[in-house]
Amino acid sequence: PPPPGLGPWAARAGAGVGGVVDLAGVGRNLRDHPTVGMHLKLRPAARAGGPHARRTNCCVRYSSGLAGAGQNGMLMASCNVFGIEGEALARGVIAASVFQAFSQGELRIVSPDPEVEPVIEERMLSDRRDLVRLRDGVRRLFALAGHPAIGGIAEEVSLGDLYGGRRDGIDGSVSDEELDQWLLAACIDCFHIVGTCRMGAVEDPATVVDSECRVVGVDGLRVIDASIMPEVPRANTHLTAVMIGEHMAERLNCSF
Ligand SMILES: Cc1cc2nc3c(=O)[nH]c(=O)nc-3n(C[C@H](O)[C@H](O)[C@H](O)COP(=O)(O)OP(=O)(O)OC[C@H]3O[C@@H](n4cnc5c(N)ncnc54)[C@H](O)[C@@H]3O)c2cc1C
Repeated sequence: PPPPGLGPWAARAGAGVGGVVDLAGVGRNLRDHPTVGMHLKLRPAARAGGPHARRTNCCVRYSSGLAGAGQNGMLMASCNVFGIEGEALARGVIAASVFQAFSQGELRIVSPDPEVEPVIEERMLSDRRDLVRLRDGVRRLFALAGHPAIGGIAEEVSLGDLYGGRRDGIDGSVSDEELDQWLLAACIDCFHIVGTCRMGAVEDPATVVDSECRVVGVDGLRVIDASIMPEVPRANTHLTAVMIGEHMAERLNCSF
């Protein structure tokens, strides 16, 4: 018989995985922080001294006031360590990220073999509220690019693929439509995936774990990690994940 699993029946059946409980929310509600970056070719004085230098030097949170988003829904971060020698040390980036992200992707198992990677569809910027705010973020990056302070540290500035270093030659003259197309193609995540076993009210079909992290409908099984976050926090996710672990460790300890 196929090994047992959780999650929507149809998806599991396709992957050859049997069923314990039919939880529609498993693998859904995948969230991350959509991000694009402006590349700087750094002047020698602005380059990191070596690979041990601090990589992210300055972060700015701001409220866009757009699309009904809340406070501090956006983040800009500047980084100047992308490698250990030569050209890589000349690379700097100022990234713009949607930190209150509404777009939802999906994670699906495709095989009963645990060694086979799942399929992940992030669908970043599929929610227009994210697209509108990242477009605004990039327009702010264009404005920054023209500031004398940026000219003081960079010989060249361009938009492009964040980690591959590709430069796409997009500038502030592009229309919103062209910019949106570029954003949908170039946007990457921040390694902050959460939400695929979201916590919620037991009667909500999207819920996977209850407020005690117990998987709905399964005795003796809890999920205690970043996947239970119903939304991606407006911050990097490590500390929230640690807090979830420590908090539940304390509560479980008390209940034994
Ligand atoms: C490249 C990268 C950079 C990041 N940078 C930052 C940052 O700067 N700041 C920040 O706040 N967040 C950062 N994050 C995000 C942060 O690391 C995660 O949100 C956080 O680690 C999630 O915690 P978790 O416990 O849910 O999962 P994980 O930390 O991934 O823990 C899952 C654990 O389960 C283990 N495991 C998996 N399968 C099995 C198995 N079958 N049996 C036993 N063990 C298993 C894994 O080895 C792993 O140790 C980064 C993430 C990545 C990938």
